Amino acid sequence: MKTVGILGIQGAIEEHEASIRKTGCTTVRVKAPADLKKIDGIVLPGGESTSMGKQLEWFGLMEPLRQAIAQGLPAFGTCAGMILLAKEIEGSNQTRIGLMDIKVKRNAYGSQLDSFVTELKVKGLKKPLPAVFIRAPRIESLAKEVDVLASYQDHPVLVRENHLLAASFHPELTDSVELHRYFIQML
Ligand code: GLN
Repeated sequence: MKTVGILGIQGAIEEHEASIRKTGCTTVRVKAPADLKKIDGIVLPGGESTSMGKQLEWFGLMEPLRQAIAQGLPAFGTCAGMILLAKEIEGSNQTRIGLMDIKVKRNAYGSQLDSFVTELKVKGLKKPLPAVFIRAPRIESLAKEVDVLASYQDHPVLVRENHLLAASFHPELTDSVELHRYFIQML
C-alpha cells in the first residue's frame, strides 16, 4: 500500500488526508525532514504560499523537500501548493520549492469573495471534475515539457510535468477524489 505525505504546515490538510484515504492509501503529515523517508509522494495543500515558504525554511524542511522532489518524489501542489512548485511567480521573490517550469500570478482570479466553483474537462478523466477556486493563482506561461490537463477561460489550471502535478484550484474541497486517484497512479 502506498503512503502519501501531506505537507502539514497550514491550509486544507485534513481535507486532503480524507481524499487520499478514500483512494485506499495511508497518509502521513510531513512536518520534519525525517517524515520524507516514510512517503511515496507528497501533497502540498492550499493556504498562503508566502507563509508556507517561510515556515518551510524555519522548520528546516525547504531544502530536504526540494531535494526529495528534485530526485523524483512525486508532488501534487494545489493552489498555494502550485505557487510553491512554480519556478516563476510574477512580481514576487518569495521563497519557493521552484521546480516546475511554470510562471504563475497569485490571486489572479480575484479575492476571497470572488471564489467560485466550476466543472472542468480533464484530459484522461471520463467525468467532468468539480473545482473550487479560492484566491487562485493563474498560470501565465509554461515550458513545452509541461502538459496541460485542463484549462479554464483559456488559461491552464491543471498541469503535469513528469512527476509533478499542479492545480490552481482545490480538488480536496469536493466529493470527487478522481484527481487524487490520478496522483496516486503517478506514485
Ligand atoms: N492566494 C494564496 C497565495 O497566494 C493561495 C490561495 C489558496 O491556496 N487558496 O498563496
